[in-house]
Amino acid sequence: MAIHTIDNKLFRLERDIIEVTPISKPDDDWEFTDKSGHLHRWQNGKLPSLKQIVDSPATEEYPASFHFECKRCGEIVNPGYKSTEYREYEAGLTHFYIDDIEVTKEDFETEYQTALSKESS
Ligand SMILES: [Zn+2]
Repeated sequence: MAIHTIDNKLFRLERDIIEVTPISKPDDDWEFTDKSGHLHRWQNGKLPSLKQIVDSPATEEYPASFHFECKRCGEIVNPGYKSTEYREYEAGLTHFYIDDIEVTKEDFETEYQTALSKESS
């Protein structure tokens, strides 16, 4: 958040912060050998030895549910995940306020430049 008071006007910027922390991440230490002796592990966040089978497609309310099977023998394998250690955030929309009234970015910049030029003259 940034606040500037210029020419008795309060210019304020607020940026929405969106949490984008994934619930779980691939566990690089995970290894599993299925009954047919096929070794499964993560490689660069992917599971090259497994295929993803969608059990039910995503709806508006629920994400898709799926499971993994060995590409070669079809055994169901549950890949290893680990919980996330850090929260991850992303910058969202920026909101612009002049004297606590939300305005468009264009109005904000115009007013800001006007106020700046008034103050410096
Ligand atoms: Zn297999």
